[in-house]
Amino acid sequence: MTSKWTDHFQQQLPEILEELRTYVEIETPTHNKQAVDQLGHLIADRFRALGCKIDTLYQPTYGDQLRIEYGDGPEQIMVLGHFDTVKELGTLVQEPWKIEDGRVYGPGTYDMKAGIIFSYFALKTIIEQQIPLQSKLVFFWNTDEEIGSVSSEKWIREEAKRSKFALVIEPAAGDGSLKTSRKGGGDFILKVKGRAAHAGNDHALGVNAIEELAHHVIAIQGFTDYDAGTTLSVGTIRGGTVSNVVPDYAEADIDVRISASSEADRITTLMHQLKPVLPGAQLIVEGGITKHPMERTAATEQLFLHAQEQALLEGFTLTERGVGGTSDGNFTADEGTPTLDGLGPVGDGAHASHEHVVIEAIPGRIAVLLRLFTSL
Ligand SMILES: [Zn+2]
Repeated sequence: MTSKWTDHFQQQLPEILEELRTYVEIETPTHNKQAVDQLGHLIADRFRALGCKIDTLYQPTYGDQLRIEYGDGPEQIMVLGHFDTVKELGTLVQEPWKIEDGRVYGPGTYDMKAGIIFSYFALKTIIEQQIPLQSKLVFFWNTDEEIGSVSSEKWIREEAKRSKFALVIEPAAGDGSLKTSRKGGGDFILKVKGRAAHAGNDHALGVNAIEELAHHVIAIQGFTDYDAGTTLSVGTIRGGTVSNVVPDYAEADIDVRISASSEADRITTLMHQLKPVLPGAQLIVEGGITKHPMERTAATEQLFLHAQEQALLEGFTLTERGVGGTSDGNFTADEGTPTLDGLGPVGDGAHASHEHVVIEAIPGRIAVLLRLFTSL
């Protein structure tokens, strides 16, 4: 008879929810260092009390990152997540902590304070029950994931290089699936310079930046290749001043998503090969593809199958899925570290007002984490 850790965490559920409430009620918008650090201190205290070694990585602008180590040995597993949220201070007034119909609501519940809590309770049980580890565990709790991990990317990559596997405790896909591939992507800005002229008197002397941009909007949309999993979308355009002046400036923001790393070069080359159509117009291409896709490699598949076995021991079937959105898992996978993402809570409403976690699924998810932490 296998021990069912799910039952163990079921018994601890009131304590788990109370801890989640504490985290959620300390609001942590990415841009507010003071607020984010307040929760950072609490998280550090919690893991320190378990006997972990804590490194606080100072950041001048965003919250300090937390690198937390437990166990020893030459090999390590990276456990990755973030405690910043997209929700501004005061969101709790409109979206208070609430338990209703088997769901727990509140800003940052699903994305992804619950994931940190899950990891903490899994580790706490490992320590209390003296379950041996195969590898050292290194938890990396990020503070600026929601704005693209600008200050943390270098730490995440460094840690991933040292790690056998990366487990990302971001929310599960809607049906509870793990995420075994993610698209990569980025943003380009196309700036067009033309020449201003009076639209009535000197039409021929002007170079219309909006007309020039229009040609490129059509061309860029055409770089999309659904079969390759590549999409480009011109999301915003700006330009011109008043209708009787030939506009001398226009620009567009372009969202790019790719499923295959090789597409990064193709799209970057195409963007930089854009040539002016109108004589006298000038193009400037800025931005680029900042995240490579998290591809489903053979090693990812092995890791997923292992997680599936662990879930079966707890009596449920784990499924997997590829998703469009990016996470810090794109960085760890880009370092060649087999990465399993979406190990966190089941729920819905990331970045939205109905953000929630499904309570029934919590004990099983923590049980799988415990099994992964101790078997990899
Ligand atoms: Zn997230």
